[in-house]
Amino acid sequence: MNRLVKKSVSNFFALKIPSKSLCTGVVKVPGSNVAEILNENEKENTTSNSIKQYDIAIVGGGMVGMALASFLASVPMTKQLSVAIIDSNPALSGSMSIKKEDPPDPRVSTVTPATISFMKDAGAWKYVEQNRHAYFDKMQVWDYTGLGYARYNARDVNKDLLGYVAENKVLHSALLSCIQDSDFKRTIYPLRLNSMTLNRSSMSLVEENMSSRESSSAQGQCARLQLSDGNSIYAKLVVGADGGKSRVRELAGFKTTGWNYSQNAIICTVEHPSENRCAWQRFLPTGPIALLPIGDKFSNIVWTMSPTESNQRKSITEEEFLKDVNSALDYGCGPHPTSSLSGTRDVFSWFQMDTTVSANESFEVPPKIT
Ligand SMILES: Cc1cc2nc3c(=O)[nH]c(=O)nc-3n(C[C@H](O)[C@H](O)[C@H](O)COP(=O)(O)OP(=O)(O)OC[C@H]3O[C@@H](n4cnc5c(N)ncnc54)[C@H](O)[C@@H]3O)c2cc1C
Repeated sequence: MNRLVKKSVSNFFALKIPSKSLCTGVVKVPGSNVAEILNENEKENTTSNSIKQYDIAIVGGGMVGMALASFLASVPMTKQLSVAIIDSNPALSGSMSIKKEDPPDPRVSTVTPATISFMKDAGAWKYVEQNRHAYFDKMQVWDYTGLGYARYNARDVNKDLLGYVAENKVLHSALLSCIQDSDFKRTIYPLRLNSMTLNRSSMSLVEENMSSRESSSAQGQCARLQLSDGNSIYAKLVVGADGGKSRVRELAGFKTTGWNYSQNAIICTVEHPSENRCAWQRFLPTGPIALLPIGDKFSNIVWTMSPTESNQRKSITEEEFLKDVNSALDYGCGPHPTSSLSGTRDVFSWFQMDTTVSANESFEVPPKIT
């Protein structure tokens, strides 16, 4: 059982990329520290007075950072760029094995057809297909009042499925495999970003193989990124893909507005007697509970509730938790709806229904969790 709090936000901090010089360079900085950098393909030792320069530095190699890297690797125009990925997450070392026989990880994502087509274009989807993932072709949404329900079916829109559910680690490792199998010029720094300098005056630099005119035009167009081992790199474009508490966002001074929803979510993997191909979501007074297929006889639960409720549930037994989940998905707080939204025209007379095949299907009780 895990407590989850927030969605992450990614920020893009763009610097102009000169149309010339789109490859890695070494920037001479008098008196700079020795930088030893672990490269995926090679181990590079920079000299005591040089700092590596990249076209793009992606700070954060989570799902978003790796999706960008794999996309850059797949497009002829961008695959020539030199890219640094900075993240100390051990998952980036590629040594984490995913075993199909292990129960599914509770951290999953629903991927829509648009995301699938993005991952196919980037060449990453074939790696997802080699691991556990599940499709759903039906969806049922209802609430505790018993007033009505909505059902969707992929065949309503002449499709075979509405989406897939995959473990985050499967999606992440697919994106990593995709860039590992390409000849993309990337360097992974297993480090964290500590600080970032954009000050022109701090960059009196001369790039190797550049004429003095080119060199002066490049001045001020690089950000200097200080890493957690004390070394630095330069980048012409910095992408902040470092999650909800983005250091890049903080260092770049982007202002954000936010508020606390006072809601927590319990996420977990559950098992039921038969395979599930439907995405179920029931709205309760304290928040929604969703049951999503994740393959075989497993489903994933994301159950949103108040912090008080989630704290109480942390200390209950597994048996009590199962009872609570089954009640939340079935009869708890209110009755089953007797008619679909299209059948309650008196209540929703203002709402013009676009009647589909599944709109007339009867309400189904979700699979019982065992
Ligand atoms: C319960 C739940 C369900 C969700 N379901 C879905 C869903 O169904 N579909 C969907 O699309 N999305 C879903 N999301 C949202 C989705 O999970 C996030 O939007 C996504 O994981 C964000 O990815 P990210 O790569 O931006 O950030 P993260 O996954 O947070 O990765 C950030 C990375 O940056 C690194 N990092 C942080 N700071 C630094 C630093 N200073 N230097 C270097 N590296 C750093 C971290 O090590 C980490 O690897 C869900 C979220 C939750 C909580």
